[in-house]
Formats: sequence, C-alpha cells, structure tokens
Amino acid sequence: MKVSLTPAVFHLPEAVNRVSQTYGANPIVPRGPAFEPLLSNARNGIVQALGAHDYEAVLLTGSGSTSMAAVLGSCLRPTERLLVIRNGAYGDRILEFARALGQNVVDIDLPYGERPDLNKIEELCAEGQVHSVAVVHGGTSTCTLNPVAEIGEITRRYGQKLLMDGISTLFVEPVDLAAWNVHAVMGSCNKGLHSHPNLTMALVRKDLMEAMATIPARAPSLELYKVWKAQVAGSHPYTIDPMSICQVVAALETLQKEGGVMGRHAVYKERCNILRKGYEALGLTIARWPGQPLQSIGTALHIPAKTTYAQMAEALSTHEVDGHTFEIYSAQGKLSNKLFRIFHMGDYPIEVYTSFLRALKNVLE
Ligand SMILES: *Cc1c(COP(=O)(O)O)cnc(C)c1O
Repeated sequence: MKVSLTPAVFHLPEAVNRVSQTYGANPIVPRGPAFEPLLSNARNGIVQALGAHDYEAVLLTGSGSTSMAAVLGSCLRPTERLLVIRNGAYGDRILEFARALGQNVVDIDLPYGERPDLNKIEELCAEGQVHSVAVVHGGTSTCTLNPVAEIGEITRRYGQKLLMDGISTLFVEPVDLAAWNVHAVMGSCNKGLHSHPNLTMALVRKDLMEAMATIPARAPSLELYKVWKAQVAGSHPYTIDPMSICQVVAALETLQKEGGVMGRHAVYKERCNILRKGYEALGLTIARWPGQPLQSIGTALHIPAKTTYAQMAEALSTHEVDGHTFEIYSAQGKLSNKLFRIFHMGDYPIEVYTSFLRALKNVLE
C-alpha cells in the first residue's frame, strides 16, 4: 500500500469508499425528495459530532480554503477592523483572503510557531482598536495548537467577535466552541472527518447567523447566510454534489462508531505516542515552541544535517517495507529548508506506523 503521511489526501474509511463505488447506480437529484433528508442528516451529524448545539453547520462545495473565504466574506461587516493573529502558513492565508475581500485588518505577524502574546491581544481589544479576531486553532505548518480558549476569554471580556480556523482540528482534537466563545468556524470535511476534499463546511453561532441577515456577503456563491437559509429549507442555491454529501454522512457514521471525536482523538494520540518515541529513538528532533502544545495529527521535525527533505521523500516513496511505501510532506514557506512534516491522518491500522519507523530508520542510515 502507498501510505499517505500527508494531511490532505489519504486512505479513507471503507464506508466512504463504498459510496464512491455504489452511488452511480442511484444518483440523488439535488431537488428531488431524497436530497432534503440527506442534507439535514449531514448538517445535524456535524453539529452532533462536535457537540456544537449553539451553531449552524453550512455545507459548501470546495476545500478548507473555501470555508475560509466564506466565513471571512460572510461574518464581518465591511467596516469591522479584524485582528489577524498569524504564526503559520494558514494565518498568512487568512490575512491574504481578508485583504482581498477589502477588510480593514490589524496584523500580528509572528515567526512561524511562536506563541501569540495574550497581553498584546488584550491591549488591542481593550482599547477598542479591533472589532473581531481571527486565529488558526491547529497550526498545520508547525503541528502545534494556538491558545484559542485564552483568546476567547479576552474577546468575550471586550465584546469582539472570534473567528477560528478549525480546518485541521475539528473531529480530531477536543474543541469546546461555546466555552471558547467562538462565533464562527472555518472547517473542512477532508481532514479530521476523513471524507473527500470536494465538500467543506462552516459553523456559525446561531446569534451571529441571525445577525448576518443584515451583513452584506462579499464572496459570491459562498454567502453563508443565503446558503444556510436554503439548506434549512432542504435545498442549495447552487449545484452541490449529493455523492459528496453521502460520503460525509458515511464519514460521520464511521466517526461515531469509533467513539466520536474523543475516540478518534485517542486513535491519533496512540499514533503520536508510537511515532514520536520512534523519531526520538532515531535521533530526530521534534520542532517545539515554548507554550505551544503539539497537535495530534502529525509532527514537524528538523531535517537532519546528513540528508535533505528531497532525499528522504524519494527513498521513502520508492523503497518498500512490509509491502508499504510512504509519502511524507515538506514544511511550508519560511520553514521548508529547516523542517519537514510527517502526518498520521486517515484510515490506517496502527502497524503501518511501526513499518514506517523501520523505513525511516533505513533511510537515515
Ligand atoms: C488544510 C488547511 C487549510 C486550507 O485547506 P486547503 O485544503 O488548502 O483548502 C486551512 N487552514 C488549515 C489550518 C489547514 O490545515
């Protein structure tokens, strides 16, 4: 098997694959009678799985970035000043998208991985210099977690809106959106949920969703309020792929069988334990930043002095161990000549990772 150790595309649960194999015989018409229950099943399933009962789930065609554009383009008034806290590649993307939408922004630009300074954030919020805050929960470029709960405490105290990029953490890391005072979440269906990257989703807190009736949407075809209104009534304003929705429902059922988010978190934690112990035994150094816990979807590692990312990636993808080859991931942007990343997402038996450690040992020797 070609094992993907990347966070974007990897082997999916059998139930999701079965949809791809059988759907063609009985396609579902978007305006037909089977569509409404399917859509509501998927939207409710997402809310249930995340325990996000104060939130509305909206499905969109696209990947995580689509959800970023939808949330930024739908949840903010054009006059709001948005504080963007960025310490990784996806914070950079939030800033890029917000600017493209013409949003007024205040930019906290930190070195990748560095813990945001809560005092600085508090200062900006207390002085009323910003009206809303956007932050990434799981920093996929560094494999670390940002202190969203602490940031939410600050925004709650001063009345700012909090937007969270949960694309790499939803369904895998425990999140308590209501307790953290999160107003809207940029999500995905292909990362922690284990479905395909052709459908994505956003969550909007119910009070904000109601208020969005008077917020002009700025991202055509990704207007969360308009799409939500249609989806509540069992339809979608544009073409959406019902097969992808069936795959999301299958992925949600699989998640539930695994014990929900906490069950999946335990599976990923077990992979972390085996792999991180193995990396250190091989003399590799895990990238860490003070005050920033590691995320459970993967690990950023320093490229050892005696080799390069390209050499490791090439050898791992061509030399079989126990019948497997492995695809690893380079680091993003500013970190790519220093670090590389190994993710352990998707539907793989635990033995795959012990085989991988042996493959990695061969490569490093
Ligand atoms: C993957 C990811 C995105 C963007 O996803 P695309 O798949 O590139 O659209 C955004 N934010 C985070 C934290 C991610 O991990």
